Amino acid sequence: MCYIEVHGDGSVTHGRDAETYRRARAGESRLYAVWPGEWSSHLFVIDDLDGYAKAFGIVHDEERTGLADHHHDVRWEVASWEDKLDGTCISIEVWLDCGCEVRDLNVFAKQMREQRGWDIATTRGWGSGGGSYYMRARRRSLEGRPSTATAKGDTKR
Ligand SMILES: [Zn+2]
Repeated sequence: MCYIEVHGDGSVTHGRDAETYRRARAGESRLYAVWPGEWSSHLFVIDDLDGYAKAFGIVHDEERTGLADHHHDVRWEVASWEDKLDGTCISIEVWLDCGCEVRDLNVFAKQMREQRGWDIATTRGWGSGGGSYYMRARRRSLEGRPSTATAKGDTKR
């Protein structure tokens, strides 16, 4: 699949970025998706600009990622099965008290990097269960000690 942009002056460019989206939104250009076939290629007009922007991460997609665009209320502790507590990366268990869900680890990792400086490994396995998530993170990027050590039994809501 390839994307082309037809500008108001008739010129054609390809690629997709935030500027493409902005121009299409403003009506300065039209976006098309090209579906290459063996004998002919099909051209589709992109009329769902919101879907387009969300699919390519140009705007934040709360529905797909499960993550609101806000400062997450996060608790964590070292995963119970982690036995190398001084390793570069450790397994952690994470709770999102703000009610968000992690459906896209890359987006969550990016948000946590911006919000708390966490360095979450996105190439390693992660998962969820029992209302929490487990993932690997660079130990030194995490706060000094798990917030659960003090926040346990703390009823915020
Ligand atoms: Zn949240």
